[in-house]
Amino acid sequence: MTKVKIIGAGFSGLWTAYLMAKKGYNVELEEINYPGFGASSKAAGILSFQVPKNMIDISLKSMELYRSLGDDILYWHDSIWLPKSDEFNCALDIVNYLSKNNIKAKVVYNKEFDSIFVKQGIIISQPTIDIGKALNILIKRIEDLNGKIINNDQKNDYDIVIYANGPWIQDSLNLNGLVKYKCQAHSVEGKQINSIIEDDINEYYYVPESNKRAIIGNGKRIILSKPEDGFIVDSNEVYKILEKISYDYKEALNMYPVNSWSAPCITTCDGYPIVGRIGKNQYVLSGLNGAGLTLSAGLSDLLIKIIEGKVEQPKYLDPLRFNDNCNEALEIFDNICINKK
Ligand SMILES: Cc1cc2nc3c(=O)[nH]c(=O)nc-3n(C[C@H](O)[C@H](O)[C@H](O)COP(=O)(O)OP(=O)(O)OC[C@H]3O[C@@H](n4cnc5c(N)ncnc54)[C@H](O)[C@@H]3O)c2cc1C
Repeated sequence: MTKVKIIGAGFSGLWTAYLMAKKGYNVELEEINYPGFGASSKAAGILSFQVPKNMIDISLKSMELYRSLGDDILYWHDSIWLPKSDEFNCALDIVNYLSKNNIKAKVVYNKEFDSIFVKQGIIISQPTIDIGKALNILIKRIEDLNGKIINNDQKNDYDIVIYANGPWIQDSLNLNGLVKYKCQAHSVEGKQINSIIEDDINEYYYVPESNKRAIIGNGKRIILSKPEDGFIVDSNEVYKILEKISYDYKEALNMYPVNSWSAPCITTCDGYPIVGRIGKNQYVLSGLNGAGLTLSAGLSDLLIKIIEGKVEQPKYLDPLRFNDNCNEALEIFDNICINKK
């Protein structure tokens, strides 16, 4: 039986371990802290369809995979997406593609949504994920399939080693083109809006948790020299985001912060993840951006197909495509007009 070691039990490692164990591989998932320690347990929970057109099939595959964990994992919301004006046509392309794939997506003009006035925006039906449940079910399923989750560096011989240790990957491997940055979010209370809002113009996102609480975050990216600094929280940021939200929603000024948290995220010089082979029997799944909850499931499925030779290594995801490093944290969300092949 092919013996596989996967390093890192965030969503990318957990999904890869589960899908490989399901296919009959002998899986060991090594986690130095605890499963979900990194960004995976801190995400806002949006399974995003607002990704470049060439990545939407990955998001759709992820949705299918998360749904396969149980009926109560996905919560569907109407999302209001406000793309930058020079990206509106690309957003329309995405809307058409989603509609063809039976996801509700349409352009709206001058319409009221729970007190938010949107001049021109896009409504997409998007799920949020119950993160705690998803993590626990993945752990249980891996163990039920005889996969092992270990927290010491075993020196066994493995046929395949997969690095999925997120922003810590550069402690393990010397790869070009990776940028660590801080992903941060805040929980706020007050009168809440019913819809997810993703505002690329004012750069914030808003995710309803209930009619009293919501998670908010922004597009500001602080570059990190070491991943651990990604856990340091800037609690003042929440007031700046509330002020931005108040441009569209006057009640935002009556909301107040409940708590804040952050974790390190990792992206690449072009904003596309790294998925594939780096050497003899060595593979990588990382650079998932602030969209890693979304992309991890679909990209794990793709990585296994690459390992098994069922698909060719996509050039735009090749882990070895960068000759240099960069110091700008580009996100997959900045790429909606850039569909790489
Ligand atoms: C505040 C916030 C909001 C977010 N919101 C969203 C969202 O709404 N939607 C979305 O799609 N994404 C979101 N994200 C992004 C998403 O959470 C991440 O992209 C994703 O969780 C990355 O998963 P990962 O498994 O690659 O890395 P991580 O979750 O960081 O996991 C890496 C794991 O590797 C382990 N590790 C490190 N070194 C070693 C080693 N040497 N040996 C063994 N294990 C090791 C770590 O302990 C960690 O558990 C958000 C992130 C944050 C922080």
